[in-house]
Amino acid sequence: MSALSGVGVGRGIAAAKVLKMPEPLAPPSDEPLAADAGAEHQRVQAALTEVADDLNARAAAAGGDAQQVLEAAALMAQDPAILDDVRSRLDVGANAEKAAWDAYAAFRDMLTQMGGYMAERATDLDDVAQRVVARLRGVPAPGVPASDEPFVLVARDLAPADTATLDLEQTLALVTEDGGPTSHTAILARSKSLPAVVGVVGVLDAVADGQLVIVDAKAGTVALDPDDASVTAAGAERASRLAAASAPITDGALADGTKVPLLANVGSGKDAPGAVEAGAEGVGLFRTEFLFLGASAAPSVEEQTAAYTEVLRAFPGKKVVVRVLDAGADKPLSFLNDAHEENPALGLRGIRALRASEQILRDQLTALANAQAATEAELHVMAPMIADREETEYFVALGKELGLASVGAMAEVPSIAVLADQVTEVADFVSIGTNDLTQYTMAADRQLGSVAALQDPWHPAVLRLVKMLGDAGAAAGKPVGVCGEAAADPALAVVLVGLGATSLSMSASAIAEVRAELLTVTLEQAKERAARALAASSAAQARQAVSS
Ligand code: PEP
Ligand code: MG
Repeated sequence: MSALSGVGVGRGIAAAKVLKMPEPLAPPSDEPLAADAGAEHQRVQAALTEVADDLNARAAAAGGDAQQVLEAAALMAQDPAILDDVRSRLDVGANAEKAAWDAYAAFRDMLTQMGGYMAERATDLDDVAQRVVARLRGVPAPGVPASDEPFVLVARDLAPADTATLDLEQTLALVTEDGGPTSHTAILARSKSLPAVVGVVGVLDAVADGQLVIVDAKAGTVALDPDDASVTAAGAERASRLAAASAPITDGALADGTKVPLLANVGSGKDAPGAVEAGAEGVGLFRTEFLFLGASAAPSVEEQTAAYTEVLRAFPGKKVVVRVLDAGADKPLSFLNDAHEENPALGLRGIRALRASEQILRDQLTALANAQAATEAELHVMAPMIADREETEYFVALGKELGLASVGAMAEVPSIAVLADQVTEVADFVSIGTNDLTQYTMAADRQLGSVAALQDPWHPAVLRLVKMLGDAGAAAGKPVGVCGEAAADPALAVVLVGLGATSLSMSASAIAEVRAELLTVTLEQAKERAARALAASSAAQARQAVSS
């Protein structure tokens, strides 16, 4: 049995036959325009409108995260700048298909050059271009295959329109040749709890329709032609995961009764109902910058008060940890940092950008204090990218000055772990952002597929920093939570608790599995697993040491 590797999304496993997604339409010919440019312009315009209508209809049917991405794609389809560009190309003699294709390609190149999140949205434009050209050609738009039997979908990458039309009854797992941990495939897989492995180089050539595979998201592998025993073992693991996901909702705890509150990561009030439904005991990370990603001016105090109040209201009497704006790198907020930086992940981001625009920070803290006063939630406020005691003192003093009761620091920069004893003296709490802590510890850009293997929070170097923070928190009597993706990995969640994490926050869809896993170990056993992971010399060894 041979296996291909990529980046696993989620922790699920599935065995099924492959169905490959049809390859995209061939590019249009260079034939010069043979018709009237004005009439062809109208024909393209009609095709764009039809594609946008179709995407909007799919958006309404899909709901949730898929709805947002499809609506965004529909907006892109109708972008007036693209239609203008099409006209210019028709006027110089390009045929209609070619004009539309090239106009989208130009827009796509612009997004790709922007890098990070915007570059990953470039796939969406390719999909829109394909749909427009299919309309002009009078052929069906490329799309996901249908099947009466369960299957593993193998594709180059999935566009939003594909992800929204997936038959989730029959699709057991996703595998893509391209795409990184923040691609649409990954977003969809996470939100639907589908196992996925993305960035599997060579998979399209290596597998054929009908071939049996095992997709193991936890290991990041796609096993080809597995034997019966492996298929049975994968089936049993899948069944136990599904059972865990439907177990009764209880507060997070270990087998010996040690409490480990399970909290949700949210990006707006819209995520609150899902978090409540999953049994989240509160919010461990409210990423406030998600509310303002497209804004060109700083939001007003009133606007922010309303947005924060909406989230806090959903959790009366419960803990809600709000992060102040985390601008920069993968989360651009032009009103906080518009400068071009060669290495934006190492630039003016997080607390650094906020300090440089202190009035924006003051306004946000004021809005949070207003929301605190207007609701029954237990509000905690933290700042991203805090590096040391001085930055902690600055932020805590400002938060208290503006009326906040509990003010803490996110641990994402390795220096804060090295200085954990100093920081826990000053902060009311610490929350470890393992996504960035891993990126900076391993010097591996979290957006970059080529170094994705290094972006692994199981790495003992990352875990040792977590332990330094956990120990310092225990010594100072301050809570130390984890709110990065690592908390959503059930086996790693146990290790994090063993290293001293006092709460875990994750996307709502991950809570059930983590809850079930925590209930299988005592604190002593969690510490023992943590010790084994700390002693390992690589992420892979740490995983293995804990699972054996
Ligand atoms: C993190 O870095 O782990 C984190 C939770 O913040 P974000 O993913 O939003 O950068
Ligand atoms: Mg972060």
